[in-house]
Amino acid sequence: MSLSADGASHRNGTAVYFDGLSSRRRTVDLVLGDKLEIGEAGAAPVLWAYDDLRQVDGPAGMLRLSAMSAPPLARLEVRDTAFAAELASRCTRLGENRTDGRAVARIVGWSLAAVLSIVMVVLFAIPYAADRLAPLVPEGFERRLGEASEVQVKAIFGSRVCTNPAGQAAFTKMLTLLRASAGLDLAAVQSSVLDTPVPNAFALPGGKVYLFNGLLAKAQNPDEIAGVLAHELGHLKHRDNMRGLIYNGGTSFLIGLLFGDVTGSGALVFASRSLVTASHSREAEEGADSFAIDVMHKLGRSPKPMGELLFRVTGKEASNLSIMASHPLTEDRLKRMTAEDRPVSGPPLLTDKEWAALKGICGTAKNAPSGKK
Ligand SMILES: [Zn+2]
Repeated sequence: MSLSADGASHRNGTAVYFDGLSSRRRTVDLVLGDKLEIGEAGAAPVLWAYDDLRQVDGPAGMLRLSAMSAPPLARLEVRDTAFAAELASRCTRLGENRTDGRAVARIVGWSLAAVLSIVMVVLFAIPYAADRLAPLVPEGFERRLGEASEVQVKAIFGSRVCTNPAGQAAFTKMLTLLRASAGLDLAAVQSSVLDTPVPNAFALPGGKVYLFNGLLAKAQNPDEIAGVLAHELGHLKHRDNMRGLIYNGGTSFLIGLLFGDVTGSGALVFASRSLVTASHSREAEEGADSFAIDVMHKLGRSPKPMGELLFRVTGKEASNLSIMASHPLTEDRLKRMTAEDRPVSGPPLLTDKEWAALKGICGTAKNAPSGKK
């Protein structure tokens, strides 16, 4: 304890502090400023507003506090009674929401039940659960996961986003047409072409679609690319990412969801990395193909060019890239797309000029069609 300049006593004190994130016990200095300042040597002080402070049960002779604005398990333990009294006098809502023993027992009971049920899910019902949990994941969480995944995308595939404005406009036009036809209300999401020679495309939770220039360079007409993008939108619509994540990510992801500890922890990094690198199940691939066929038909275009593009890229061999993931084999896929071929009845998705702009979006490909119709 010390005397401050204006003579008021008990403005400073010490306490034991648990930050609620780790179990480390810290000895901290407290200052009663506009807010309670919790200072630890070498770190910026943590500020707790007095109105946020709540007393929680502690041993006699100790004021044990939590704060509404802090992690639920954060605690501050003040033993100096004079300082504790000074601190308490500034807090107006110290006694609210105090939990008695029965409430604690109830919380513990529910937590155990929840953990037990998650364990049962993990052990016995993951595939079943994945199908049913994926639609329940809040969209806000999915969007955050998508944003985190972007970092992984750029780390793995390089970060150069192609920015040719005319090319980007053409890309956005195509995606908007596809999204409208697919009934996906995500037209505002900015999607990009990445300048990497890998022939690939994928969509992330939240709706962002990536097309790699390596695939664009091999494409001969807009319908080839449109079919691939429609396939990726199918994965989004079916929430295959979340399904796969729950299926593959299993325990830590579910438990993270259960305790709301996903954003702040390694779980998000883990989850986003597996999103970017994982391939989909055979069923998910076939479902996305069906979706793409449907979307192209609705636009009056044929899905066959998509099959032709993928066949051109991989031949009969399967590849481990996500769009060309080994299920189904590209040969089977081409057969299916060919069977779904229909005479074109809708307008072209892009004009020749827009297609040329899209092909040149990275400032590399120059093999756009020459003739104007
Ligand atoms: Zn796919």
